[in-house]
Amino acid sequence: MLPALLDPLGRKINYLRVSLTDQCNERCLYCRPAAYHGWSPQPDHLSTPELIQVITAATRLGFEHIRLTGGEPLLRPDLLEITRSLRTLPHLTSLSLSTNGTRLAPIARQLQQAGIQSINLSLDALQPELYRKITGGSFDDFFAGFRAALDAGFTQIKINCVLLRGMNQQELRPLVHFAAEHHVPIRFIELMPLTLSPQNGQDLFLSIQDAQEFLGGSETLIPKPDYSGGQGPARYFEDKVSGAIVGFIGALTTPDFCASCNKIRLTADGKLRPCLGRHGEIDLRNALRQGSHTPEELLREAIANKPKDHEFSTGYEPSRPMTALGG
Ligand code: SAM
Repeated sequence: MLPALLDPLGRKINYLRVSLTDQCNERCLYCRPAAYHGWSPQPDHLSTPELIQVITAATRLGFEHIRLTGGEPLLRPDLLEITRSLRTLPHLTSLSLSTNGTRLAPIARQLQQAGIQSINLSLDALQPELYRKITGGSFDDFFAGFRAALDAGFTQIKINCVLLRGMNQQELRPLVHFAAEHHVPIRFIELMPLTLSPQNGQDLFLSIQDAQEFLGGSETLIPKPDYSGGQGPARYFEDKVSGAIVGFIGALTTPDFCASCNKIRLTADGKLRPCLGRHGEIDLRNALRQGSHTPEELLREAIANKPKDHEFSTGYEPSRPMTALGG
């Protein structure tokens, strides 16, 4: 067991989210990555050996949880190779993946065999037209991927839904029933101001408190403080109506949301980002290529520079979307 990595506030930092690409085959209206025209390695992105070098260094330091994300990580043709290289790292407790699921069906079992233990799938609506309106993608493709994930034997599967006022609040109850029917937890996430698109605006913002009211409030949602649903900040409840486990992630409305933050992000272009909701980044890629610093030194610097809290409620102006930062 390695000694804990502590930031200046004493928070234990043990979770690295790694964006494998800033590209995505969907175009969620609150995210809006550039149009996708096929994946190719970008010189300003970390290569596969560089990625593996940095993640290996992170696990040697004390990062126990690695999540592969993006953009859409399934766009990377070498995803299985990356996964196989990581699965055997000593001190790694969990290796997980976030995906929109639309390309998961043919590869789900191979990913599980390659070492992905748990998987988060984004699902903002069940009605196919609404799903397309929000994401630009196909619900049928999502559902094929979701089914394949259920059959593939992952230790845990979770559904993530971004709350969108006037768009998907009528879907919240059906989504909870969908989760119950398939025996997976669902988490509702507050929209964070991360994109410069007009849809970034507060018009779409729906708080977790309002979402809880839509679902019946405390009459229906029974707190499950001991439920261990992963490494993140979700608070979990059991829905009395369906039996589903329902989590809420309220980055904007939860007091002290950042008090338990345990994450550092590695962007696809090789920047270490101590906080999603603040612009500060450390240029790991150039330091690595110039040989000026080791990844261990830069990871320690990122932890030392981890701010107390995000600036989402105090004027954060996004400069690039979540896809670039690693969702
Ligand atoms: N493509 C993968 C996926 O769909 O899960 C991984 C990357 S995606 C950026 C990760 C998660 O971030 C998704 O659940 C997505 O809905 C969420 N997300 C993106 N932009 C967001 C925003 N502005 N606020 C809240 N969540 C956001």
